[in-house]
Amino acid sequence: MSEEKKNGEEVKTPVSFIEQIIIEDLESGKNGGRIHTRFPPEPNGYLHIGHAKAICLDFGMALKYGGKCNLRFDDTNPVKEEVEYIDSIKEDIRWLGFDWDDREYYASDYFGKLYDFAVDLIKRGLAYVDDQPADVISSQKGTPTQSGIESPYRNRSAEESLDLFERMNQGEFEEGTRVLRAKIDMTSPNMQMRDPIIYRIIKASHHRTGEAWKVYPMYDFAHGQSDYFEGITHSLCTLEFEVHRPLYDWLIDQLKTGDYRPRQIEFNRLNLTYTMMSKRKLLELVQEGKVSGWDDPRMPTLCGLRRRGYTPESIRKFIDLIGYTKVEAINDVSLLEHAVRDDLNLKAPRVFAVLNPLKVTITNYPEGKTEYVSLINNPEDESMGSREIPFSREVYIEQDDFMENPPHKFFRLAPGAEVRLKGAYIIKCTGFMKDGSGKITEVLCTYDPDTRSGAGSSNKKVKGTLHWVSAEHAVDAEVRLYDRLFNHEDPAGQKDEDYRNFLNPESLKILKDCKVEPSLRTAEPLDKFQFQRLGYFCVDYDSTKDHLVFNRTVGLKDTWAKINR
Ligand code: ATP
Ligand code: MG
Repeated sequence: MSEEKKNGEEVKTPVSFIEQIIIEDLESGKNGGRIHTRFPPEPNGYLHIGHAKAICLDFGMALKYGGKCNLRFDDTNPVKEEVEYIDSIKEDIRWLGFDWDDREYYASDYFGKLYDFAVDLIKRGLAYVDDQPADVISSQKGTPTQSGIESPYRNRSAEESLDLFERMNQGEFEEGTRVLRAKIDMTSPNMQMRDPIIYRIIKASHHRTGEAWKVYPMYDFAHGQSDYFEGITHSLCTLEFEVHRPLYDWLIDQLKTGDYRPRQIEFNRLNLTYTMMSKRKLLELVQEGKVSGWDDPRMPTLCGLRRRGYTPESIRKFIDLIGYTKVEAINDVSLLEHAVRDDLNLKAPRVFAVLNPLKVTITNYPEGKTEYVSLINNPEDESMGSREIPFSREVYIEQDDFMENPPHKFFRLAPGAEVRLKGAYIIKCTGFMKDGSGKITEVLCTYDPDTRSGAGSSNKKVKGTLHWVSAEHAVDAEVRLYDRLFNHEDPAGQKDEDYRNFLNPESLKILKDCKVEPSLRTAEPLDKFQFQRLGYFCVDYDSTKDHLVFNRTVGLKDTWAKINR
């Protein structure tokens, strides 16, 4: 964590309980003073911001304490896993700013070793083949307060189990007809210890090992041992694995030859309001077309957040802010929005964009004349310089910056009122036109040539300043306004209601006739801007030179600045 200077003194912000453990382990010389972590995604979906919390810890701790962090794909289920996911996971981790050098591993690298270990357990009377189907096995598990029932196959001979296990792997039996179970304790108060299934038959092709195996280790049988094989010192994972720890320890006890064992430490998952973190459910949204894809800017996936305009720095900052504890909680999405707003405030150039254009004709400005006015790119950062934008007789302003009958204290444009066009002149409204339906179609103004910003001789002051673009020079753009994907704080956490019922029907609003300043013609996908007075926007992948497309990242204010026009 960061060190700050306060009154000239070094002040260390408190470290997380996990970091504290790491410091103590390093100080006591445990594991030869090594720190080695891993990030173990299952390649069955795209990474979401919850994973970022694990990534920042796994890679961050290794980086800070001179250790290493492996990337290990937990590819134990060939049915759900795809190469597309592996590629996206790597891209997202790099984008977040972390690197695993050449340490890209797969649980499938250890299928041979794990199989040998399973055979060893059978020979030692610590595992057996069970011929019962899964539902019977689970019905015999008992409850936390009631012991389980032993399988009738529990005490079959090691020879018989060995023979069956080999034949399971040769493809002789159908999926679901037999499993291999560890023989631990059906009366254990910890349900995970009640003879857990450690191998099952799956007859699908695996993305790396092809047809080589017909039996696959369960996640619980692969995970701890993979850590052990890789020499992981601190195995950091989320709280739901706490109850699995005794099982992982039991398995390592059977395997280990020296003092070394990975130390598992659990922390609370990241949950965010108005969204959900389950890969399975996010996949459903994609498959059912509720969103445009994994990278839909409304998704909590890292690729979705990237497309929305989030920076890696803002996500890391947010993760840092929420910290790591032992208590499950749900974090407010507005904290994440605050982090990106803070970051973009420093980085994003200011530009003029009009989302709902209303034409203003400046009747006393010469026809055909163009002037260039200079505007500062970012008042927070002088080094970002300034740019020139064209001003002419016809400009666009926002429709809601004009009112025919304004309320008291409306400092924008209205009949007889004066405002400044930012960076240019003060204009005065002299009239307006309406169409048959009463909609205002054009506003007429005069300008005062002595009021040019920076150069004018007049010291006239007005209360309102508007952004604008020159009609002749403006570039057409499409702007996509996003709101929360769900209108419930915890859509996936409602017992009696499907999360789909909470999808926000207004989560995407597309404005097709926006006008932006000409400097944006050369903007590239993922370029980020502050549209002045409106919010932060990011160029979408769909954008082309002839058809600019922007995504709204976040409004300028802490409440979702709704632009409902
Ligand atoms: P999901 O529940 O979304 O399917 P998962 O836990 O099955 O996620 P994995 O690919 O197994 O996904 O996760 C890889 C690592 O990321 C694990 O160590 C897991 O603990 C961690 N992780 C997953 N979700 C979160 C979260 N919401 N907050 C913090 N860490 C998470
Ligand atoms: Mg998982």
